[in-house]
Amino acid sequence: DQKAIATPKRTKEILNKYEFFFKKSLGQNFIIDVNILRNIITKAEITKDMNIIEIGPGIGALTEQLALAANKVVAFEIDGRLLPILEDTLEGYNNVTIINQDILKADIIEICDKYFQDSKPVKVVANLPYYITTPILMQLLMANLPIASITVMIQKEVAERMAAKENTKEYGSLSIAVQYYTEARVETIVPKTVFMPQPRVDSAVLHLKMREVAPVKVMDETFFFNLVKASFQQRRKTLRNNLSRHFNEVFAKLEIENGLEHVGIDGTRRGGESLTIHEFGSLANYFYQRIK
Ligand code: SAM
Repeated sequence: DQKAIATPKRTKEILNKYEFFFKKSLGQNFIIDVNILRNIITKAEITKDMNIIEIGPGIGALTEQLALAANKVVAFEIDGRLLPILEDTLEGYNNVTIINQDILKADIIEICDKYFQDSKPVKVVANLPYYITTPILMQLLMANLPIASITVMIQKEVAERMAAKENTKEYGSLSIAVQYYTEARVETIVPKTVFMPQPRVDSAVLHLKMREVAPVKVMDETFFFNLVKASFQQRRKTLRNNLSRHFNEVFAKLEIENGLEHVGIDGTRRGGESLTIHEFGSLANYFYQRIK
């Protein structure tokens, strides 16, 4: 596949032709290895019967492979300098639309309605700009979008935290936030060498399959996520202490003790690190009912 954009030679040619210089502030690290792109597409389980949203197409390395594998691709790129380049590199593909917009400000539902006028499943696939990985993913998850899955290349440590299970050091409020909406899996660890320029950190492909129903029924999501955060506030302290501190104006220490006992959770457990999402759900529902 000599014509692929994602080779060191072709990428350099394109960058030189347009005198393009990387903006570090936009997280611009382009993929120069077509095997990695095919791996991402395999993990995302893409077929011609699907539509794709891409975030940050760069010079089109991944976009090209998506265009080959999927029905339609809509890609959001914030950097206007890349638009003429993409027009050139993706010239041969008539199923790609580039939108010059900040993904954090985009109305994704409206865009889907406009460009995907069929009932094919929609998937998000991207090599994300690392400086805003978490805001982008949390926004996608919370927006209640009609998407089946999200498959992204992100910083390895962040991917591991998002997919972490209880009783591991990576487990925290981010794990709960992501796993409340999705089934999360780290698919592939990716070396720095597949990028130009090389980032300082290692990367991983993270696959998030959207859940149809939440794994735990919570009465109030904001309260639930606040309680989860509070539980992890000081990882060395007990769960009881973290909760007492956080809720000190709402509940007396004794009420916290009683609540923990009521839902059958030992308050001397360390922070939130051993609590399952179900246990967090029971705790949150118990205390939420008490403040109402
Ligand atoms: N997809 C290309 C690849 O894999 O070679 C480029 C990936 S690069 C890691 C991230 C891309 O996201 C850059 O092209 C950057 O300009 C773009 N970007 C950064 N912030 C963005 C934002 N808020 N909205 C949309 N695109 C953004």
